[in-house]
Amino acid sequence: MLNHERSIAIFEASKKVIPGGVSSPVRAFKGVGGSPFIVERGEGPYLFDIDGNKYIDYVGSWGPLVLGHADPEVLAKLQEIAARGTSFGCPTELELELCQLICELVPSIEMVRLVNSGTEATMSAIRLARGYTNRPKIIKFDGCYHGHADSLLVKAGSGLATLGVPSSAGVPPEIAQHTLSLPYNNLDVVLECFRAHKGQIAAIIVEPVAGNMGCVPPAEGYLEGLRELCDEQGALLILDEVMTGFRVSLGCAQGLYDIQPDLTTLGKIIGGGLPVGAYGGRRDIMERVSPLGPVYQAGTLSGNPLACGAGLVTLNRLAADPEVFYGRLEELSAKLAEGLVANAQEAGLDVSINRVGSMMTLYFGEHDVIDQETASMGSDAAYAAFFTTMLEHGVYLAPSRYECAFVSIVHSDADIAATLLASKAAFAAVAAL
Ligand code: PMP
Repeated sequence: MLNHERSIAIFEASKKVIPGGVSSPVRAFKGVGGSPFIVERGEGPYLFDIDGNKYIDYVGSWGPLVLGHADPEVLAKLQEIAARGTSFGCPTELELELCQLICELVPSIEMVRLVNSGTEATMSAIRLARGYTNRPKIIKFDGCYHGHADSLLVKAGSGLATLGVPSSAGVPPEIAQHTLSLPYNNLDVVLECFRAHKGQIAAIIVEPVAGNMGCVPPAEGYLEGLRELCDEQGALLILDEVMTGFRVSLGCAQGLYDIQPDLTTLGKIIGGGLPVGAYGGRRDIMERVSPLGPVYQAGTLSGNPLACGAGLVTLNRLAADPEVFYGRLEELSAKLAEGLVANAQEAGLDVSINRVGSMMTLYFGEHDVIDQETASMGSDAAYAAFFTTMLEHGVYLAPSRYECAFVSIVHSDADIAATLLASKAAFAAVAAL
């Protein structure tokens, strides 16, 4: 057994002053049992905890760390920038460079505004869509998570599914009633919903590859269908690419599936591991944002130089030779996914893996996972046993079965091989349940 003595002591002390001992719920390991390890440092694809244990990390700070931990170029840039000050609340050239690069890499984004988290990005995009269309309601999809703004905490996947809370206390029904949550990957229900709320729907917000009920790719024609319905009904299409942005391809999911959204939300990778978010899209819509237009949105630390610098280094690395970069991610990720399925079968288990590039989720059960209902069919106990055994063998997966594993560019073939070896023990533990 790994020694977790110091981690347990720190977590116990944390619980006295921080609700659940964590700054974000899923970190508390409630979905898998046990006590979380406390991180001492990260290096490349590895995490080290304060008891000296080393883990191959497939969480990657929940997606941003496509270059791995403590990338030397990112660190050098941060040091250079920090020496000149960490926040000014004034415009800088760095934020221009980051925004220009985003606009260049994602053609649907003609103008973009930087914020501090994915939550802020989606919240602001929804406000903008309502302000632009002068309509109150939005459509989202069951199991999709768009951050924790009140109007988006309805059937919101991930942490909420893990904890078995259908939505959050503290969200007034007057607000929730304007959020219409529908099953993912089903166009008929969207059409019905538009008919039932004619002229009332400002926007559809969707994860183009869902990542918060585990990884659920869009069915063929699904995103195109949403685009067409929005056009017919005068609603905006918002692609929430906080997770998929620059993860699934250099052109994001919209490039991969060739879909033109009206607005896009970004986060995670564009900050290279620092707090960031962004929303952008059609110029005529973005021109409604304050101070050009009447839709208010602001932020003390928005566009701060450290996040912009780390984001710029990261995006430039992806863009330097995207075929090589994304090709390598694909190669590693395919090897991991195929190996996991083979090892599960060898242990006599039915599993499926949904994967788009370097984001993937292993589901226990023989059914295909296409939406929240099918995502929740597997058993909590199976995932908990799998997670715990992997951790014991030095592999850190997300401590919830409704999350993705992320492969980074610094995972090596040897890391994948070690992970697959660990999975043999983990699948055996599941089979023994
Ligand atoms: N949208 C999506 C698709 C996400 O995956 C997340 C976070 N996992 C968010 C929004 C919220 O981002 P943040 O946690 O930075 O507020």
